[in-house]
Amino acid sequence: MGKLGFDTKAVHGDVLKEDIHKAIRYPIYAGVAFHFESAEDIEDAFAFRKPAHAYSRVTNPTVEAFERKMNGLEDGRAAVATASGMAAISNVFFNLLKQGENIVSANSLFGNTYSFFKKTLKNFGIETRFVDIDDLDQVREAINGKTRALFLETISNPKMNVPDITKIVEIAREKRMARDHGIAVIVDGTVTTPYLFKGKEFGVDLVVHSSTKLISGGATSIGGVIVDLGNCEWSGFPSLEDYKKLGELSFLARLRKEVYRDLGACMAPQIAFLQSLGLETLSLRVEKACKNTLELAGYLARHDKVIRVNYPGLPDSPFHALAKKQFNNRFGGVLTFELPDKQTSFTFLNHLKIIRRASNLGDNTTLIIHPASTLFQEYTMEEKETMDVSEGLIRLSVGIEDVEDLMEDIEQALHKI
Ligand SMILES: *Cc1c(COP(=O)(O)O)cnc(C)c1O
Repeated sequence: MGKLGFDTKAVHGDVLKEDIHKAIRYPIYAGVAFHFESAEDIEDAFAFRKPAHAYSRVTNPTVEAFERKMNGLEDGRAAVATASGMAAISNVFFNLLKQGENIVSANSLFGNTYSFFKKTLKNFGIETRFVDIDDLDQVREAINGKTRALFLETISNPKMNVPDITKIVEIAREKRMARDHGIAVIVDGTVTTPYLFKGKEFGVDLVVHSSTKLISGGATSIGGVIVDLGNCEWSGFPSLEDYKKLGELSFLARLRKEVYRDLGACMAPQIAFLQSLGLETLSLRVEKACKNTLELAGYLARHDKVIRVNYPGLPDSPFHALAKKQFNNRFGGVLTFELPDKQTSFTFLNHLKIIRRASNLGDNTTLIIHPASTLFQEYTMEEKETMDVSEGLIRLSVGIEDVEDLMEDIEQALHKI
């Protein structure tokens, strides 16, 4: 699609074949199976010799339209859409790892990803080495001959830290060359979306998104996507050995032909349609949410009842300069702030009138949650400390309402504490 701008690609997409009725919006192909002209054709399709849709758990035209649109926005090699963000993450690691290998990951992570690494993968003999991702020596030291991936989030919450992705990619590349083995840099870009963060330009190998959040159009459906950004040759990965002759396509080929097909966590065509529609307005919604968040962060930072605000958009954030460079001069739609203790936080939350108490982020509606008693309920005190989850911490996911109304709501609730 050449040099089209982000919004043009987000609206038009990149469909392989136009709809036979030339519908402006690519329709929902809700069927499961597809007819073939001959037995020879169906044989070719099963052998992946000729691309064709055969069964919707593996590929589907509507899902493909969404995948190609996402891939266009990331300037990647190709994308695979999944049933959820967690399905995207689990598919990536089941595809890339073998028993006895390990991954190095940031220790501040989305809770279910942390649990997937710490418990689920562990039972398959895969170790996760959790490090402070802002300490590059720790990252370097955690890597050994069995490390196949470095995993991080573009902005992790509730810590709101921003890893230096350029430097992390450099470490992976050094190790790749020195040891001649595969190490992929995998980034969860959910909170930044391709509108704020272009993984390809930073040398990232794979990006995963929970499209449930911003991409869906403001949290209207569950979905996920994996994009191979075209920066990795995929040599030196034992799990991809059987696909070696496909070279740079080996990651995607094993995924589609084996792991994604066999795990069965595919995206439904109805969801792909909704999420393609969501992408059309992505930049407008992200712009508004980022603007609102920056204003609220400044207001909260000046408020005498607020102890601390974590938001990379604030000039005194230790991550400000890095975030500015990495995220296209914007800082996302999530911030965290601290009140004195659990009781004041609860009183504050209970008095909000417009802002909703809910556990999601990236919604058009502003959502708020007390992480220590909810998202991190099952964590040990030590884990909560490592992740900076204090009893007075509050997470705010800012929507696209009028910021004055949000501010007024917060102001009246802060007066109650
Ligand atoms: C929500 C989220 C996920 C998981 O996505 P689901 O679609 O809920 O499975 C993964 N990573 C991040 C950063 C998220 O916010």
